[in-house]
Amino acid sequence: MFIEMRDVEYVYGYKTPFEKKALSGVNLTISKGEFIGIIGKTGSGKSTLVQLMNGLLIPQRGDVIVDGINTKEKKKVKEIRKRVGLVFQYPEYQLFEETVYRDIAFGPKNLGFSDEEIEKRVKEVCELLEIPRAILEKSPFELSGGQKRRVAIAGIMAMDPECLILDEPTAGLDMRGRKRIFNIIERLHREVKKTIILISHNLEDVASMCERVIVLNSGKIYFDGSKHEIFENIQLLEKSGLIAPDILYLQHRLKMRGFKIERFEYRIENV
Ligand code: ADP
Repeated sequence: MFIEMRDVEYVYGYKTPFEKKALSGVNLTISKGEFIGIIGKTGSGKSTLVQLMNGLLIPQRGDVIVDGINTKEKKKVKEIRKRVGLVFQYPEYQLFEETVYRDIAFGPKNLGFSDEEIEKRVKEVCELLEIPRAILEKSPFELSGGQKRRVAIAGIMAMDPECLILDEPTAGLDMRGRKRIFNIIERLHREVKKTIILISHNLEDVASMCERVIVLNSGKIYFDGSKHEIFENIQLLEKSGLIAPDILYLQHRLKMRGFKIERFEYRIENV
């Protein structure tokens, strides 16, 4: 077991008049090598959940254990960050160094790696993320949207985390940029054997890549199981924030991909 959450509760503005419970009663285990999709309406707690997984947020109740380390152990926060890399939404807003190279090298430098090791890591992640060497000395601000996104992801990958969490990694990209990012993520999972956790609004993307799907609803885990179970159950899909036209479209697309959806189809007639 790689990540374990035991009866986790998280409240923003804890013990202030602005308390807002974002998650409660969350129990979850994630093994090395899994590829998990997290879906749910805006405000259902997805971002909070993943920030708990790399110690950016600490639960007020319950425990989050990453590779045997409790995220409450403050001294071990670096150990947790080394193991779980979190790519935020629009990660390119966090690029700030003068050159692409420095931006990618920032994380491993912070973790105390030698210059030699850093250079090796930058080279490796550039290959993985299809970043041409020619842009390494450019300013990140000169790059295209898709390139910036890949550079930002490379910065997290350069720390060589066992698990990579991506929050809507293709938001705002065009079709080509999206395909490229998804191909890269699939390769990271298949070839580099990373544990991947993907937050996505796009169920088709989740359906095509992830094996396990977690649906959050109002700060609780509403469903946790195989993608086949969820795509055959319209109520689960509705809880994930979809509306009927989306579901019809999804059904059509999944059928084209050879998905088995008879039961799903039957139910959809009753919408
Ligand atoms: P999602 O990622 O699914 O959109 P979030 O985890 O961002 O959901 O939010 C869960 C709940 O916590 C929402 O009700 C949201 O308004 C609230 N929330 C998120 N961040 C904060 C914050 N910094 N301060 C107060 N409330 C927050």
